Amino acid sequence: MTGAREWVERIHALDIADRVKVMNVCGGHERSVTMSGMRSALPSNIEIVPGPGCPVCVCPEEDIYQAIQLALHEDVVLVTFGDMLRVPVNAPKNEPRSLVEARAAGADIRPIASPVEARMIAEDTDKPVVFFAAGFETTIAPVASLFLEGVPDNLYLLLSGRLTWPAVAMLLESGEPGFNALIAPGHVATVMGPEEWEFVPQQYEIPAAVAAFTAESLLAATWSVLRQLKEAKPFLDNCYQALVRPGGNPVAKAHLHQVLQVGDANWRGIGVIPGSGFALREDYSAHDARLRFRDYNASGRRRIGEMPPGCDCAQVVLGKIYPNQCRLYGEACTPRNPIGPCMVSDEGACRIWFSGGAAL
Ligand code: SF4
Repeated sequence: MTGAREWVERIHALDIADRVKVMNVCGGHERSVTMSGMRSALPSNIEIVPGPGCPVCVCPEEDIYQAIQLALHEDVVLVTFGDMLRVPVNAPKNEPRSLVEARAAGADIRPIASPVEARMIAEDTDKPVVFFAAGFETTIAPVASLFLEGVPDNLYLLLSGRLTWPAVAMLLESGEPGFNALIAPGHVATVMGPEEWEFVPQQYEIPAAVAAFTAESLLAATWSVLRQLKEAKPFLDNCYQALVRPGGNPVAKAHLHQVLQVGDANWRGIGVIPGSGFALREDYSAHDARLRFRDYNASGRRRIGEMPPGCDCAQVVLGKIYPNQCRLYGEACTPRNPIGPCMVSDEGACRIWFSGGAAL
């Protein structure tokens, strides 16, 4: 097996003269890139840019606000994956601005690590249990499986599920994508199949390679896309053959399709992206928290650029700037005192860069 050092040597041997920006769209990829020190081993003209790879970071502010208000004002238990708890929203000073602050104010909000825990909590109480679930395809597929298997009547889903490829398509369609090559997310490709990413080389002539989470796989994908650029022959390479198979995971895809439908969806700080969001199908509407608790619909708060003042998360998520180019990075905004969502989640680029010791 080719090791990391050899891949780095191969990348240098390509002797690429131009500045190249390679975007990744996966928080796990960005974590491996940052923690392995991979950037510093590459030629100085080769940049690895973090893109829209954090579902918590793009979860619309109105959804989080809705969850906060619902938990504060209804006799419910609200459960959510732990990294959502501290994501801040814009709120008046005397109001909770995150789920963790709402919990401190008396709301029954519980972190969970897997969808099965939501069902267990609902089975253990007579109260309505609202499962606030944000995530990309890999996180949302088990949520779909849970509802397909059957859940108690008192379990409701407040869903902020997103598909990854439409965000990349939106960037490419903008005419200013800000990258010359793409490392496609391996975990998403294991579920949905690598074919989802074929549009990148085929329609936009941008090299692409699916990668796993190891430094070796990420370097192999980087070498692949650079070689494609050099030879002007873009295609979709699969550098994660151990798990990424043609067609993906048919069972997971079937579950997603049976329980959920795809529609337009708002991305925090970015706006509405066509065909980028999951919603419950009508057959499951009895479990739809948006229908059960209509009074808390906060879509009136929706606006583009819905970040806290001074926060550049939208620019970071789109790969337009690096985290440490935000003027709040590491000063006003730290993991202990996050101003924007990218400093909260383990998949947020700002949090990853700060944890990795990236300087101001
Ligand atoms: S450093 Fe903080 S405020 Fe700046 S973009 Fe990142 S999360 Fe947002």
